[in-house]
Amino acid sequence: MTSLDELPIRDDLRGKTPYGAPQKTVPVALNVNENTHPIPEDVAHDIVARVAAAIIGLNRYPDREFTELRTALAGYLGHGLVPEQIWAANGSNEVLQHILQAFGGPGRTALGFGPTYSMYGLLAAGTGTEWVTAERDDDFELSAETALAAIERHDPDIVLLCAPNNPTGTPLALDTIRAVADTARGIVVVDEAYFEFAEPGDPSALTLLEGRPRLLVSRTMSKAFAFAGARVGYLAGDPAAIDALRLVRLPYHLSALTQAAALGALAHADEMLAMVDEIRGQRERISRELAALGYRPYRSGANFVLFGGVDDPHAVFEALLARGILIREIGLPGCLRVTAGTEAETTAFLEAMASFAPNRM
Ligand code: PMP
Repeated sequence: MTSLDELPIRDDLRGKTPYGAPQKTVPVALNVNENTHPIPEDVAHDIVARVAAAIIGLNRYPDREFTELRTALAGYLGHGLVPEQIWAANGSNEVLQHILQAFGGPGRTALGFGPTYSMYGLLAAGTGTEWVTAERDDDFELSAETALAAIERHDPDIVLLCAPNNPTGTPLALDTIRAVADTARGIVVVDEAYFEFAEPGDPSALTLLEGRPRLLVSRTMSKAFAFAGARVGYLAGDPAAIDALRLVRLPYHLSALTQAAALGALAHADEMLAMVDEIRGQRERISRELAALGYRPYRSGANFVLFGGVDDPHAVFEALLARGILIREIGLPGCLRVTAGTEAETTAFLEAMASFAPNRM
């Protein structure tokens, strides 16, 4: 057997570990922050019809500029955005990769605030970009002062702000985003993968785009939109920044099937997003009930909760798994992360937690 070390792999990739959230078939999978509610059947039928129509034309390459999809995404985002300000790719991971390919690379630095989304470091590594992380404030919050001090220290070419932050759930104040966007000399990416789960009325970084051509706001259809399997992420920014992304994307990177499916889902945005309030309610329930059990849930604006106060996270992870419940070990001491699922899934998780909680009667 040949080992990876024997191959002439790039030196900067030696010893790196690939993204590896466990994929297990279990009754209750609450480990990768999906929307665990299936797509409504009538929406699924419409999507099937659109995909079926697209199949007949698969002899041809798809619309390289995915104009119809960009128009639909601009309409969904609102804020007066036009299709020229929209980009999309196979998941927001690929959108972020395009950004790093175009604006990062050898000799350049990307800055994030740890703990944060683990793919940022891997995408930086894959594009030869140096990845640096700065610390957050207490309870994983990020004030403008802390963020600006890190920017001054590292002078990054790209700043990645995760709002709300994964894996902590921490919402990010618009004041911090504005301060970073107005101070950093490079590209500022606001990853709003979980934005739809924020408190209704909380402003999006989209409200800051006007007059800030180096600010990019990424979103995904994988979370609130219940479309993770379709792989559709997107971004809003200045048309010039979008032109830069065109330089690094592969031609026809969004298949005709993906475009058709995404258009179908967007045509039913209200139905696709119908479970968001319910999921937010389950998130609040998880926080409330875990606190009552003596754990320490952190503030979350996402569809998951990070909680501390776990003596042996690996043992709890395994004990849950033995009951068919998969959550996430994220390597933070004393902490675990759980996705807010359906009411039944949440109940299964909370009942199991109650049986091994520090405060149990
Ligand atoms: N950003 C954040 C913060 C995430 O948590 C995730 C998925 N876990 C992504 C981006 C990427 O999601 P996708 O590629 O499915 O859009």
